[in-house]
Amino acid sequence: MIAAQAVRVLILLVILGITIACLIAGRYVAAILISGVAWLTYLWGTLRPNCSWFGEVLSHMPGGEVAITIDDGPDPATTPALLAILRTAKVNATFFLIGERAVAHPRLVEAIRADGHDIGNHTQTHPQFAFWALGPWRMWREIRACQVSLQNAPAYFRSPVGHTNPFVSPVLKQLGLRRVAWSARGYDAVRKDVDGIMADLFTDLKSGSIVLIHDATPVCSEVLERLIAEINRRGLRTALLPPTAALHPGGVCADHASL
Ligand SMILES: [Zn+2]
Repeated sequence: MIAAQAVRVLILLVILGITIACLIAGRYVAAILISGVAWLTYLWGTLRPNCSWFGEVLSHMPGGEVAITIDDGPDPATTPALLAILRTAKVNATFFLIGERAVAHPRLVEAIRADGHDIGNHTQTHPQFAFWALGPWRMWREIRACQVSLQNAPAYFRSPVGHTNPFVSPVLKQLGLRRVAWSARGYDAVRKDVDGIMADLFTDLKSGSIVLIHDATPVCSEVLERLIAEINRRGLRTALLPPTAALHPGGVCADHASL
């Protein structure tokens, strides 16, 4: 898989070389067309959360259960309520925590662990607008610092907004992390209409879904409660993300992306 990623990066570099050659030769239209195609290809691989062009990604549960994943915590204003809802429902989830927030609220991290939930790496500072463009050193610092903040517990990594680039996969490999995306979401981090959030989320909710919701929003408790109620109504079972050792290598750039 690493070799396949290296080939893709090499192809992009070759295209860059051809573009430069076209510019030197004065073939400006050809240079614009070639570089445009290369740039769009690169963006496709970096901005699509389930795309595995630049690294393997898990986006469906191999066993058919539903995995609830909760990003962007911990937050003292909302995380305790989410934990109470999960406790009442006897459901476990994976919390993808932001490292600097975990350092600021260690008791919340302990509470998450004490209730049997998993903790994932969601970068140290959550650079959501710049993540796709981070270079190798900043990428290493973001992911490594979060891993340290979470005491090296995470086995899974979720990138901010689901973006990636060619520098993510080498860092994950070195730290023993696997990238996970999602297959159902309702854009609850940026919306307040819970009916609309749930409608979008329920459209893709099915056996094997990895559901993405967010902590630290005004609607997160209601979203979680309604999600669990719908999972139960449909007779679906919930589970934590599978042990990474049980995953198989592979992956495609589609909704069927898997490890
Ligand atoms: Zn996030």
